[in-house]
Amino acid sequence: MKNVIVVGAGMVGLATAWHLQERGYEVTVLDREGVAAGSSWGNAGWLAPAKTIPLSDPSLWSYGPKAVFDPDAALSMPIRFDPKLWMFLARFMAQATQRAWDTTMANLTPIDQVALEAFDELELGGVKAQSFKRPFVIGFEEESQSKGFQKEIAGVIRHGQEAPLERLDNPRELAPMLSDEVKVAFRLEGQRFIEPGPYVEAIAQAVVERGGKIIADAEVGSVTAQGDHPAVILANGHRIEADKIVIATGAWLSRLARDLGVRTLVQAGRGYSFSVATEEPAEHALYLPHHRMACTPYQGRFRIAGTMEFRRPDEPLYPRRIESIVNLSRHLMQGVDLDNRQDEWVGSRPVTPDGMPLVGQTKAENIYVAGGHGMWGVVLGPATGKYLAQLMDTGETHEAIKPFDPLR
Ligand SMILES: Cc1cc2nc3c(=O)[nH]c(=O)nc-3n(C[C@H](O)[C@H](O)[C@H](O)COP(=O)(O)OP(=O)(O)OC[C@H]3O[C@@H](n4cnc5c(N)ncnc54)[C@H](O)[C@@H]3O)c2cc1C
Repeated sequence: MKNVIVVGAGMVGLATAWHLQERGYEVTVLDREGVAAGSSWGNAGWLAPAKTIPLSDPSLWSYGPKAVFDPDAALSMPIRFDPKLWMFLARFMAQATQRAWDTTMANLTPIDQVALEAFDELELGGVKAQSFKRPFVIGFEEESQSKGFQKEIAGVIRHGQEAPLERLDNPRELAPMLSDEVKVAFRLEGQRFIEPGPYVEAIAQAVVERGGKIIADAEVGSVTAQGDHPAVILANGHRIEADKIVIATGAWLSRLARDLGVRTLVQAGRGYSFSVATEEPAEHALYLPHHRMACTPYQGRFRIAGTMEFRRPDEPLYPRRIESIVNLSRHLMQGVDLDNRQDEWVGSRPVTPDGMPLVGQTKAENIYVAGGHGMWGVVLGPATGKYLAQLMDTGETHEAIKPFDPLR
Protein backbone atom coordinates (compact mmCIF):
# COMPACT_ATOMS: atom_id res chain seq x y z
CA MET A 1 0.00 0.00 0.00
CA LYS A 2 1.34 3.47 -0.85
CA ASN A 3 1.96 5.77 2.06
CA VAL A 4 1.55 9.53 2.37
CA ILE A 5 2.72 12.01 4.98
CA VAL A 6 0.43 14.98 5.48
CA VAL A 7 2.04 17.90 7.31
CA GLY A 8 -0.59 19.90 9.23
CA ALA A 9 -3.59 18.58 11.16
CA GLY A 10 -6.04 21.38 10.36
CA MET A 11 -9.25 21.09 8.35
CA VAL A 12 -7.38 20.98 5.03
CA GLY A 13 -4.72 18.43 6.03
CA LEU A 14 -7.15 16.09 7.76
CA ALA A 15 -9.77 16.24 5.00
CA THR A 16 -6.99 15.38 2.53
CA ALA A 17 -5.83 12.49 4.74
CA TRP A 18 -9.41 11.16 4.93
CA HIS A 19 -9.84 11.26 1.15
CA LEU A 20 -6.46 9.62 0.58
CA GLN A 21 -7.67 6.77 2.80
CA GLU A 22 -10.79 6.52 0.65
CA ARG A 23 -8.41 5.77 -2.22
CA GLY A 24 -6.50 3.15 -0.29
CA TYR A 25 -3.47 5.14 0.90
CA GLU A 26 -1.85 4.69 4.29
CA VAL A 27 -1.60 8.13 5.93
CA THR A 28 0.48 9.68 8.67
CA VAL A 29 -0.42 13.22 9.72
CA LEU A 30 2.28 15.25 11.47
CA ASP A 31 1.57 18.46 13.37
CA ARG A 32 3.92 20.65 15.35
CA GLU A 33 1.22 20.93 18.03
CA GLY A 34 -1.80 18.70 17.46
CA VAL A 35 -5.23 18.44 15.86
CA ALA A 36 -6.87 21.81 15.02
CA ALA A 37 -4.04 23.73 16.67
CA GLY A 38 -4.10 26.44 13.99
CA SER A 39 -6.82 28.46 12.34
CA SER A 40 -9.19 25.49 12.19
CA TRP A 41 -10.13 25.84 15.86
CA GLY A 42 -11.67 29.19 16.87
CA ASN A 43 -13.01 30.32 13.49
CA ALA A 44 -16.67 31.10 12.79
CA GLY A 45 -17.39 27.66 11.31
CA TRP A 46 -19.42 29.02 8.42
CA LEU A 47 -20.02 26.78 5.46
CA ALA A 48 -21.20 29.69 3.36
CA PRO A 49 -20.42 29.26 -0.34
CA ALA A 50 -22.37 32.45 -1.06
CA LYS A 51 -19.79 34.33 1.03
CA THR A 52 -16.80 32.35 -0.26
CA ILE A 53 -15.69 35.21 -2.44
CA PRO A 54 -12.52 37.24 -3.10
CA LEU A 55 -11.30 39.05 0.00
CA SER A 56 -9.89 41.94 -1.96
CA ASP A 57 -12.53 44.13 -3.61
CA PRO A 58 -12.80 47.75 -4.82
CA SER A 59 -14.21 48.93 -1.44
CA LEU A 60 -10.79 48.16 0.07
CA TRP A 61 -9.54 51.48 -1.30
CA SER A 62 -12.01 53.34 0.94
CA TYR A 63 -11.27 51.58 4.25
CA GLY A 64 -7.85 49.91 3.70
CA PRO A 65 -5.60 52.98 4.12
CA LYS A 66 -7.42 53.92 7.39
CA ALA A 67 -6.39 50.55 8.79
CA VAL A 68 -2.75 51.57 8.96
CA PHE A 69 -3.48 54.32 11.47
CA ASP A 70 -6.52 53.06 13.44
CA PRO A 71 -5.65 50.19 15.82
CA ASP A 72 -9.39 49.51 16.38
CA ALA A 73 -10.25 49.19 12.67
CA ALA A 74 -11.65 45.81 11.56
CA LEU A 75 -8.69 45.54 9.17
CA SER A 76 -5.41 46.17 10.97
CA MET A 77 -1.70 46.05 10.23
CA PRO A 78 1.36 47.16 12.11
CA ILE A 79 3.46 50.08 10.92
CA ARG A 80 6.83 48.37 10.82
CA PHE A 81 9.62 47.68 8.39
CA ASP A 82 8.64 44.32 6.95
CA PRO A 83 9.39 44.11 3.20
CA LYS A 84 7.53 40.80 2.79
CA LEU A 85 4.39 42.25 4.36
CA TRP A 86 4.50 45.40 2.21
CA MET A 87 5.08 43.31 -0.92
CA PHE A 88 2.08 41.17 0.02
CA LEU A 89 -0.05 44.29 0.61
CA ALA A 90 0.95 45.82 -2.72
CA ARG A 91 -0.14 42.65 -4.54
CA PHE A 92 -3.28 42.33 -2.41
CA MET A 93 -4.32 45.93 -3.13
CA ALA A 94 -3.62 45.44 -6.85
CA GLN A 95 -6.45 42.88 -6.78
CA ALA A 96 -8.93 45.44 -5.43
CA THR A 97 -10.62 46.09 -8.76
CA GLN A 98 -13.96 44.90 -10.11
CA ARG A 99 -12.20 43.07 -12.94
CA ALA A 100 -9.91 41.15 -10.59
CA TRP A 101 -12.87 40.39 -8.32
CA ASP A 102 -14.78 38.86 -11.25
CA THR A 103 -11.78 36.80 -12.39
CA THR A 104 -11.20 35.39 -8.90
CA MET A 105 -14.92 34.82 -8.34
CA ALA A 106 -15.12 32.86 -11.61
CA ASN A 107 -12.24 30.70 -10.35
CA LEU A 108 -13.80 30.12 -6.92
CA THR A 109 -17.30 29.32 -8.20
CA PRO A 110 -16.68 25.67 -9.27
CA ILE A 111 -15.32 24.71 -5.83
CA ASP A 112 -18.00 26.78 -4.05
CA GLN A 113 -20.61 24.75 -5.91
CA VAL A 114 -19.33 21.41 -4.61
CA ALA A 115 -18.25 22.55 -1.13
CA LEU A 116 -21.34 21.53 0.81
CA GLU A 117 -21.76 18.09 -0.76
CA ALA A 118 -18.19 17.36 0.34
CA PHE A 119 -19.41 17.75 3.94
CA ASP A 120 -22.28 15.32 3.26
CA GLU A 121 -19.71 12.86 1.97
CA LEU A 122 -17.68 13.07 5.20
CA GLU A 123 -20.75 12.78 7.41
CA LEU A 124 -22.20 9.85 5.45
CA GLY A 125 -18.76 8.27 5.32
CA GLY A 126 -18.45 7.89 9.07
CA VAL A 127 -17.20 11.25 10.40
CA LYS A 128 -19.22 11.67 13.59
CA ALA A 129 -20.03 15.36 13.33
CA GLN A 130 -22.83 17.48 11.97
CA SER A 131 -23.23 20.51 9.75
CA PHE A 132 -26.28 22.63 10.61
CA LYS A 133 -28.55 23.74 7.75
CA ARG A 134 -30.16 26.93 9.03
CA PRO A 135 -30.67 30.38 7.50
CA PHE A 136 -28.08 33.08 8.24
CA VAL A 137 -29.14 36.53 9.50
CA ILE A 138 -27.32 39.57 8.12
CA GLY A 139 -27.77 42.90 9.91
CA PHE A 140 -26.94 46.59 9.37
CA GLU A 141 -27.52 49.79 11.30
CA GLU A 142 -28.72 51.59 8.18
CA GLU A 143 -29.76 50.84 4.63
CA SER A 144 -26.70 52.46 3.05
CA GLN A 145 -24.39 49.98 4.84
CA SER A 146 -26.09 47.07 3.09
CA LYS A 147 -25.31 48.14 -0.48
CA GLY A 148 -21.87 46.50 -0.64
CA PHE A 149 -23.19 43.23 0.75
CA GLN A 150 -26.11 43.17 -1.71
CA LYS A 151 -23.68 43.86 -4.54
CA GLU A 152 -21.50 40.93 -3.48
CA ILE A 153 -24.48 38.58 -3.39
CA ALA A 154 -25.59 39.80 -6.82
CA GLY A 155 -22.05 39.08 -8.06
CA VAL A 156 -22.08 35.57 -6.63
CA ILE A 157 -25.43 34.88 -8.34
CA ARG A 158 -24.15 36.36 -11.61
CA HIS A 159 -21.29 33.84 -11.46
CA GLY A 160 -23.71 30.95 -11.16
CA GLN A 161 -24.38 30.24 -7.48
CA GLU A 162 -27.73 30.21 -5.75
CA ALA A 163 -27.93 32.65 -2.86
CA PRO A 164 -31.57 33.19 -1.83
CA LEU A 165 -31.65 36.51 0.04
CA GLU A 166 -34.81 37.91 1.60
CA ARG A 167 -35.43 41.04 3.66
CA LEU A 168 -36.47 40.40 7.27
CA ASP A 169 -39.14 42.57 8.91
CA ASN A 170 -38.43 41.22 12.38
CA PRO A 171 -34.83 39.91 12.53
CA ARG A 172 -35.05 39.40 16.31
CA GLU A 173 -37.30 36.37 15.74
CA LEU A 174 -34.26 34.56 14.33
CA ALA A 175 -31.53 36.54 16.09
CA PRO A 176 -32.85 37.72 19.47
CA MET A 177 -29.42 39.06 20.39
CA LEU A 178 -29.62 41.92 17.86
CA SER A 179 -30.06 45.31 19.53
CA ASP A 180 -32.45 47.98 18.22
CA GLU A 181 -29.44 49.63 16.59
CA VAL A 182 -29.69 46.98 13.87
CA LYS A 183 -32.49 48.36 11.71
CA VAL A 184 -31.97 46.58 8.38
CA ALA A 185 -31.67 42.80 8.09
CA PHE A 186 -31.75 39.95 5.60
CA ARG A 187 -32.10 36.19 5.69
CA LEU A 188 -29.72 34.14 3.54
CA GLU A 189 -30.62 30.54 2.75
CA GLY A 190 -28.57 27.64 1.42
CA GLN A 191 -25.61 27.98 3.82
CA ARG A 192 -24.62 25.88 6.85
CA PHE A 193 -22.39 26.11 9.89
CA ILE A 194 -20.36 23.71 12.05
CA GLU A 195 -18.60 23.75 15.40
CA PRO A 196 -15.18 23.82 13.74
CA GLY A 197 -12.83 22.47 16.45
CA PRO A 198 -15.03 19.49 17.35
CA TYR A 199 -15.72 18.85 13.65
CA VAL A 200 -12.02 18.70 12.79
CA GLU A 201 -11.42 16.47 15.82
CA ALA A 202 -14.13 14.14 14.48
CA ILE A 203 -12.34 13.91 11.11
CA ALA A 204 -9.11 13.14 13.00
CA GLN A 205 -10.89 10.40 14.94
CA ALA A 206 -12.22 8.89 11.69
CA VAL A 207 -8.73 8.98 10.15
CA VAL A 208 -7.32 7.10 13.17
CA GLU A 209 -10.21 4.59 13.25
CA ARG A 210 -9.40 3.75 9.63
CA GLY A 211 -5.79 2.98 10.48
CA GLY A 212 -4.14 6.39 9.98
CA LYS A 213 -1.58 7.83 12.39
CA ILE A 214 -1.67 11.35 13.77
CA ILE A 215 1.53 12.46 15.46
CA ALA A 216 1.52 15.62 17.59
CA ASP A 217 4.57 17.64 18.67
CA ALA A 218 6.19 16.80 15.32
CA GLU A 219 7.48 20.04 13.83
CA VAL A 220 8.65 19.67 10.26
CA GLY A 221 11.73 21.78 9.46
CA SER A 222 11.85 21.04 5.72
CA VAL A 223 10.45 18.84 2.99
CA THR A 224 12.90 17.45 0.45
CA ALA A 225 12.80 15.63 -2.85
CA GLN A 226 16.43 14.54 -2.59
CA GLY A 227 16.99 10.80 -2.27
CA ASP A 228 14.97 7.84 -3.52
CA HIS A 229 11.78 9.05 -1.90
CA PRO A 230 10.48 12.45 -0.85
CA ALA A 231 11.02 13.01 2.85
CA VAL A 232 10.26 15.34 5.72
CA ILE A 233 13.06 16.42 8.01
CA LEU A 234 11.73 17.05 11.49
CA ALA A 235 13.00 19.99 13.53
CA ASN A 236 14.88 17.45 15.68
CA GLY A 237 16.73 16.26 12.56
CA HIS A 238 14.86 12.98 12.17
CA ARG A 239 14.11 12.06 8.51
CA ILE A 240 10.89 10.28 7.49
CA GLU A 241 10.35 9.09 3.92
CA ALA A 242 7.05 8.46 2.15
CA ASP A 243 5.75 7.79 -1.36
CA LYS A 244 4.05 11.18 -1.38
CA ILE A 245 3.92 14.23 0.89
CA VAL A 246 1.27 16.93 1.32
CA ILE A 247 2.13 20.27 2.94
CA ALA A 248 -1.03 21.64 4.58
CA THR A 249 0.41 24.02 7.13
CA GLY A 250 -2.06 26.90 6.82
CA ALA A 251 -0.55 30.33 7.45
CA TRP A 252 2.90 28.72 7.81
CA LEU A 253 2.74 27.17 4.33
CA SER A 254 5.37 29.36 2.64
CA ARG A 255 8.09 28.27 5.08
CA LEU A 256 8.04 24.70 3.78
CA ALA A 257 6.80 25.27 0.23
CA ARG A 258 8.90 28.22 -0.98
CA ASP A 259 11.96 26.08 -1.80
CA LEU A 260 9.70 23.73 -3.74
CA GLY A 261 8.76 26.45 -6.24
CA VAL A 262 5.64 27.83 -4.53
CA ARG A 263 6.38 31.55 -4.87
CA THR A 264 2.92 32.89 -3.95
CA LEU A 265 3.34 34.24 -0.43
CA VAL A 266 0.88 33.05 2.20
CA GLN A 267 0.37 35.84 4.74
CA ALA A 268 -1.33 35.42 8.12
CA GLY A 269 -4.60 37.36 8.26
CA ARG A 270 -5.21 37.00 11.96
CA GLY A 271 -8.70 36.97 13.42
CA TYR A 272 -10.01 36.83 16.97
CA SER A 273 -12.96 35.11 18.62
CA PHE A 274 -14.54 34.36 21.97
CA SER A 275 -17.81 32.84 23.16
CA VAL A 276 -20.53 34.26 25.40
CA ALA A 277 -23.76 33.09 27.03
CA THR A 278 -26.98 34.49 25.61
CA GLU A 279 -30.30 35.10 27.40
CA GLU A 280 -32.19 33.42 24.57
CA PRO A 281 -30.68 30.46 22.74
CA ALA A 282 -28.59 31.31 19.68
CA GLU A 283 -29.72 29.16 16.76
CA HIS A 284 -28.58 30.98 13.65
CA ALA A 285 -25.36 32.34 12.30
CA LEU A 286 -25.31 36.12 12.37
CA TYR A 287 -23.24 38.39 10.12
CA LEU A 288 -22.62 42.10 10.67
CA PRO A 289 -20.74 42.90 7.44
CA HIS A 290 -20.15 46.59 8.08
CA HIS A 291 -18.12 45.67 11.17
CA ARG A 292 -16.82 42.38 9.70
CA MET A 293 -18.21 40.38 12.59
CA ALA A 294 -19.23 36.75 12.13
CA CYS A 295 -21.16 35.01 14.92
CA THR A 296 -22.17 31.38 15.27
CA PRO A 297 -23.92 29.13 17.82
CA TYR A 298 -21.18 27.17 19.56
CA GLN A 299 -21.47 24.53 22.31
CA GLY A 300 -24.67 26.10 23.71
CA ARG A 301 -23.06 29.55 23.61
CA PHE A 302 -22.52 32.18 20.92
CA ARG A 303 -19.14 32.61 19.28
CA ILE A 304 -18.32 36.14 18.13
CA ALA A 305 -15.45 36.42 15.65
CA GLY A 306 -13.92 39.27 13.74
CA THR A 307 -11.04 41.46 12.60
CA MET A 308 -8.32 40.91 10.02
CA GLU A 309 -4.85 41.66 11.29
CA PHE A 310 -1.86 41.28 8.95
CA ARG A 311 0.87 40.18 11.35
CA ARG A 312 3.10 37.15 11.77
CA PRO A 313 1.19 33.99 12.71
CA ASP A 314 3.13 33.33 15.92
CA GLU A 315 2.70 36.78 17.49
CA PRO A 316 0.73 36.78 20.75
CA LEU A 317 -2.97 37.55 21.14
CA TYR A 318 -3.42 41.32 21.44
CA PRO A 319 -6.23 41.96 23.99
CA ARG A 320 -7.03 45.31 22.39
CA ARG A 321 -8.39 43.51 19.32
CA ILE A 322 -10.78 41.50 21.50
CA GLU A 323 -11.84 44.72 23.26
CA SER A 324 -12.66 46.30 19.89
CA ILE A 325 -15.01 43.41 19.09
CA VAL A 326 -16.54 43.58 22.59
CA ASN A 327 -17.18 47.34 22.27
CA LEU A 328 -18.92 46.87 18.95
CA SER A 329 -20.95 43.98 20.35
CA ARG A 330 -22.18 46.13 23.28
CA HIS A 331 -23.64 48.52 20.73
CA LEU A 332 -25.06 45.98 18.27
CA MET A 333 -26.25 43.23 20.61
CA GLN A 334 -28.46 42.72 23.64
CA GLY A 335 -28.90 39.81 26.06
CA VAL A 336 -25.32 38.60 25.63
CA ASP A 337 -22.99 38.32 28.61
CA LEU A 338 -19.96 40.10 27.19
CA ASP A 339 -18.23 40.34 30.57
CA ASN A 340 -17.93 36.57 30.97
CA ARG A 341 -16.13 35.57 27.83
CA GLN A 342 -14.70 32.11 27.26
CA ASP A 343 -12.33 30.66 24.66
CA GLU A 344 -10.62 33.94 23.77
CA TRP A 345 -8.57 33.04 20.72
CA VAL A 346 -6.46 34.36 17.89
CA GLY A 347 -5.88 32.38 14.71
CA SER A 348 -4.23 32.97 11.37
CA ARG A 349 -6.14 32.81 8.11
CA PRO A 350 -3.76 31.72 5.36
CA VAL A 351 -4.25 34.58 2.91
CA THR A 352 -2.84 34.72 -0.64
CA PRO A 353 -2.59 38.06 -2.47
CA ASP A 354 -4.77 36.87 -5.38
CA GLY A 355 -7.48 35.40 -3.13
CA MET A 356 -7.09 31.86 -4.44
CA PRO A 357 -5.91 28.73 -2.64
CA LEU A 358 -2.76 26.78 -3.56
CA VAL A 359 -3.69 23.19 -4.34
CA GLY A 360 -1.62 20.78 -6.40
CA GLN A 361 1.87 19.49 -7.06
CA THR A 362 4.97 21.56 -6.34
CA LYS A 363 7.92 21.52 -8.72
CA ALA A 364 9.09 18.40 -6.89
CA GLU A 365 7.43 15.19 -8.02
CA ASN A 366 5.17 13.62 -5.37
CA ILE A 367 5.24 16.67 -3.09
CA TYR A 368 1.99 18.63 -2.99
CA VAL A 369 0.54 21.64 -1.19
CA ALA A 370 -3.00 22.29 0.02
CA GLY A 371 -3.67 25.63 1.64
CA GLY A 372 -3.90 29.38 1.28
CA HIS A 373 -7.70 29.39 1.51
CA GLY A 374 -7.77 32.66 3.45
CA MET A 375 -11.16 33.32 5.01
CA TRP A 376 -12.56 30.06 3.64
CA GLY A 377 -10.41 27.06 4.51
CA VAL A 378 -13.13 25.44 6.57
CA VAL A 379 -15.86 25.45 3.95
CA LEU A 380 -13.43 24.58 1.14
CA GLY A 381 -11.32 22.08 3.12
CA PRO A 382 -13.25 18.86 2.37
CA ALA A 383 -13.65 19.60 -1.37
CA THR A 384 -9.95 20.53 -1.52
CA GLY A 385 -9.00 17.24 0.12
CA LYS A 386 -11.24 15.27 -2.19
CA TYR A 387 -9.88 16.70 -5.43
CA LEU A 388 -6.25 16.81 -4.29
CA ALA A 389 -6.50 13.11 -3.39
CA GLN A 390 -7.91 12.47 -6.87
CA LEU A 391 -5.01 14.35 -8.47
CA MET A 392 -2.43 12.49 -6.36
CA ASP A 393 -4.00 9.14 -7.15
CA THR A 394 -4.84 9.50 -10.84
CA GLY A 395 -2.92 12.51 -12.13
CA GLU A 396 -6.23 14.13 -13.19
CA THR A 397 -6.90 17.71 -12.11
CA HIS A 398 -10.59 18.27 -11.39
CA GLU A 399 -12.21 21.52 -12.63
CA ALA A 400 -12.80 22.64 -9.04
CA ILE A 401 -9.06 22.96 -8.30
CA LYS A 402 -7.72 23.75 -11.76
CA PRO A 403 -7.27 27.50 -11.11
CA PHE A 404 -5.33 26.86 -7.89
CA ASP A 405 -2.03 25.63 -9.41
CA PRO A 406 0.55 26.35 -6.69
CA LEU A 407 3.23 27.12 -9.27
CA ARG A 408 1.19 29.99 -10.82
C1 LIG B 1 -11.61 34.62 13.10
C2 LIG B 1 -11.65 33.64 11.95
C3 LIG B 1 -12.88 33.25 11.43
C4 LIG B 1 -12.93 32.37 10.35
N1 LIG B 1 -14.15 31.93 9.92
C5 LIG B 1 -14.21 31.02 8.92
C6 LIG B 1 -15.47 30.52 8.49
O1 LIG B 1 -16.50 30.88 9.04
N2 LIG B 1 -15.50 29.62 7.47
C7 LIG B 1 -14.35 29.22 6.84
O2 LIG B 1 -14.44 28.44 5.89
N3 LIG B 1 -13.15 29.65 7.24
C8 LIG B 1 -13.05 30.55 8.26
N4 LIG B 1 -11.84 31.03 8.67
C9 LIG B 1 -10.63 30.60 7.93
C10 LIG B 1 -10.24 29.18 8.33
O3 LIG B 1 -10.14 29.13 9.73
C11 LIG B 1 -8.92 28.79 7.67
O4 LIG B 1 -8.93 29.10 6.29
C12 LIG B 1 -8.69 27.28 7.82
O5 LIG B 1 -8.86 26.90 9.15
C13 LIG B 1 -7.31 26.90 7.31
O6 LIG B 1 -7.14 25.53 7.53
P1 LIG B 1 -5.74 24.84 7.30
O7 LIG B 1 -5.92 23.41 7.60
O8 LIG B 1 -5.22 25.24 5.97
O9 LIG B 1 -4.76 25.56 8.36
P2 LIG B 1 -4.68 25.42 9.95
O10 LIG B 1 -5.96 25.05 10.55
O11 LIG B 1 -4.02 26.65 10.45
O12 LIG B 1 -3.73 24.16 10.14
C14 LIG B 1 -2.35 24.22 9.87
C15 LIG B 1 -1.67 23.25 10.82
O13 LIG B 1 -0.30 23.12 10.44
C16 LIG B 1 0.47 22.99 11.61
N5 LIG B 1 1.85 23.37 11.26
C17 LIG B 1 2.29 24.58 10.85
N6 LIG B 1 3.61 24.52 10.57
C18 LIG B 1 4.00 23.25 10.81
C19 LIG B 1 5.25 22.56 10.71
N7 LIG B 1 6.36 23.19 10.29
N8 LIG B 1 5.30 21.27 11.05
C20 LIG B 1 4.19 20.59 11.47
N9 LIG B 1 2.97 21.20 11.58
C21 LIG B 1 2.88 22.51 11.25
C22 LIG B 1 -0.18 23.93 12.61
O14 LIG B 1 0.12 23.56 13.94
C23 LIG B 1 -1.67 23.74 12.27
O15 LIG B 1 -2.27 22.75 13.08
C24 LIG B 1 -11.74 31.89 9.76
C25 LIG B 1 -10.51 32.25 10.29
C26 LIG B 1 -10.46 33.14 11.38
C27 LIG B 1 -9.12 33.50 11.95
